[in-house]
Amino acid sequence: MSLIIDGNGKAQGFRGIISDITERQKAEEIIRHQAFHDPLTGLANRILFYDRMQMAFKLAKRNQKMVAVIILDIDRFKEINDTHGHMAGDKILESVAERLSGLVRSSDTVARYGGDEFTLIMPSLSCESDALVIVKKIISVFDSPFHIEKTSINVTSSVGVAIYPAHGTNADTLMNKADNAMYRAKAMGRNKFFFYGDGEINS
Ligand code: GH3
Ligand code: MG
Repeated sequence: MSLIIDGNGKAQGFRGIISDITERQKAEEIIRHQAFHDPLTGLANRILFYDRMQMAFKLAKRNQKMVAVIILDIDRFKEINDTHGHMAGDKILESVAERLSGLVRSSDTVARYGGDEFTLIMPSLSCESDALVIVKKIISVFDSPFHIEKTSINVTSSVGVAIYPAHGTNADTLMNKADNAMYRAKAMGRNKFFFYGDGEINS
């Protein structure tokens, strides 16, 4: 922007260049979104999930609340791919993402952690039984079959849960413990959930 002055030194107006940056801002927004989301399901990716976990722990510490860190891995997903094809497998992953997103509140985070593994954070819980209610709801998203191109496919999952601060206070520890609990559910026959350190079999 520059001022236009006439021969007598009097201001005549301004001359300037206007550039519309809407498109550039949109492109930057898309790139930002791609960096933190899974392209298949649109869910948060591992990077965003870790960030949300740290935030949830900070808030829980301040408010003396609990946070549930949940890992869900689809059972025998390789077999589903082998039987129905990789495209059907992709559709199931998308539907699982939709069903999980549909049952959580806006303050919760659902992420696709990788492959057939989904992770969830439930912040601001008052007691472990709040987490139990949520985990039962999560498991229930597999109660009805997935309809992929006229085929009805039954899917189950194994779920592991770790609780902040009871099972740890940092993200890596809680993820390891939730993973540990999830593998226990696999080892006990799948289609089950476990809380870390819990001796009971939950199905
Ligand atoms: P388990 O019950 O032990 O979990 O058995 P699994 O067959 O589900 O084994 P695992 O979880 O270790 O492997 C996940 C498989 O998911 C591996 C790969 O074939 C498949 N997979 C990973 N990413 C994708 C994807 O984006 N699309 C599809 N269709 N399949 C995927
Ligand atoms: Mg699996």
